[in-house]
Amino acid sequence: MRQQPSMLIPIVFEAGNSAQRSMANWRSNKPIIERNQCTNCLICWIFCPEPAIFMDESGNVQIDYEHCKGCGICAEECPRKAIKMVMESV
Ligand code: SF4
Ligand code: SF4
Repeated sequence: MRQQPSMLIPIVFEAGNSAQRSMANWRSNKPIIERNQCTNCLICWIFCPEPAIFMDESGNVQIDYEHCKGCGICAEECPRKAIKMVMESV
């Protein structure tokens, strides 16, 4: 029987299981939403390849950093340029 890796090890053995795994240590850069620029249009959510963008109870789009792998697609696709990629602190 194959050993299950720890939730902290960023390995995806099977398709579609990233929602159960932390992607946090894949990142070298992370997205930061500029609140005053964001219109909560959810276009970033459409393009994000991970389950890493959600809307909070107040209707504001947020990043789930446990599932964000830092690819930067959201920053590229945001029509308001409201997402900045910043270097991950060590
Ligand atoms: S695409 Fe940009 S403006 Fe739209 S919700 Fe995402 S961060 Fe906000
Ligand atoms: S950096 Fe990539 S994984 Fe993270 S929220 Fe943006 S599109 Fe999703």
